[in-house]
Parts: sequence; C-alpha cells; structure tokens
Amino acid sequence: MTEQLLKILIVGDGNVGKSSFVLRYVSGQFNRSYKMTVGVDFSVKVLQWSDREKVRLHLWDIAGQEHFISMTRIYYKGALGCIVMFDVTNESSFLKCRHWKQDLDNKVMLPNGDSIPCILLANKCDLAQRVVSSDSIDKFSKANGFITWMETSVKDNKNVGEAMTRLVQQILSIQSSLYPLNLRPEDSVNPQQDSEINSNSAGGCC
Ligand code: GDP
Ligand code: MG
Repeated sequence: MTEQLLKILIVGDGNVGKSSFVLRYVSGQFNRSYKMTVGVDFSVKVLQWSDREKVRLHLWDIAGQEHFISMTRIYYKGALGCIVMFDVTNESSFLKCRHWKQDLDNKVMLPNGDSIPCILLANKCDLAQRVVSSDSIDKFSKANGFITWMETSVKDNKNVGEAMTRLVQQILSIQSSLYPLNLRPEDSVNPQQDSEINSNSAGGCC
C-alpha cells in the first residue's frame, strides 16, 4: 500500500463558501481542524484511491485572510493543487479570481516550472440571483490556465466530491509523470513545522 500526501489550497474572496466546501467535503471523515498562527484552517481527508493507493489530502483553507490578496509564501509552500472559488451572485468575487490565480502562479510552481493544477469553482449556483454567466466563466477559465471549471453548490452538495476528484486525478497524473518511480522528495508541508516557523514572527502557536 502506498500513501501520497497532497497539499491542496482553497483560495478566493471572503464569503464565497470556501470553509463550507471543506466542511462538506471532509465531513464524516473529518479528523481535526484548527486555526494555525498563519491564519489557515487545516483539514485532513484520506482517500482510498485504488486497491494499493491511499491519498492523504491536506486542505488549507485560508481563514479570514482573504483581504490579503497577496498571500505569504508559507501558504503556498509545497502545494500540489489549488481551488480558486468565487460566488456566482457576486461579480467582484469573480473578477478577483484573476489576482488569486496570478498570486498563486507567482509563488508556487512544479519542479519543471509549470504552474500547479488549479480548478475554478463557481459556487452558490443554487441561488437565483446569479450575475456571472457560464460563457464568461468558460472564457476566463481557458484564458487563465485552469484545468477546468465547475458549478458547485455546497448547500445542495452539488459537484463538491466531483470537483475534488477531478483535481486529485490531475495532481496524481502530473506527479506520476514527474516522479515515475514514486520518488517524490518529501516536501515540507508539515503544518506544525510551518506554524513553528511562523510563530517566530506571529507569536503563540496553534
Ligand atoms: P468563506 O468565507 O469563503 O469561507 O465562506 P463560508 O464557507 O463561510 O460561507 C459564507 C456564506 O455562504 C455562509 O453563510 C454559507 O452558509 C453560505 N454558502 C456557502 N456555500 C453556499 C452555497 O453553495 N449556496 C448558498 N446559497 N450559500 C452558501
Ligand atoms: Mg472561511
């Protein structure tokens, strides 16, 4: 049995549904979630990906830091995939996705220089007051290098698992092409370690 650790970030403006998404996705197999000194909620979900493969997801939900459009590198360190989320009833949250994606691409990349796989989620599609059209999301997604985009409703549990499966598939396929013998060097994605680094400046600990 092999087990891979994948660090995945969830970014986007405040109030778009990021924390609700993580809670929905991990509920049932939720281990623990705690606020770190860097201001992220960190959750774990273990997937039995195949007979011989387990995947341990570390989901980093930026919590209350959304106004810092430029995030510290520590958030991005070792991340192998990302979700950028906006709210279809809030146009400005959609427009800000360009900045979220650029900030991500400026601060983290794969060893071969490519950007890490990123999926765009158009959340709250259950609501009638939608202001962002599918056409503009589709154009934006293609122009900005997302692997794909999906409409989600965390409220109605629509496309939550599907979006994560799509992202994890893409991450695993990239990882196996970069490291065919599964010899990925252990990245420093240990939150304890990262929070200790950060605690020097922020004080306190999780
Ligand atoms: P965050 O700031 O991005 O983490 O957003 P939250 O997860 O805290 O959600 C913000 C608000 O949006 C909360 O009141 C949620 O209940 C609500 N919300 C999240 N997802 C959905 C959704 O798919 N549909 C609707 N109608 N409300 C949602
Ligand atoms: Mg939140």
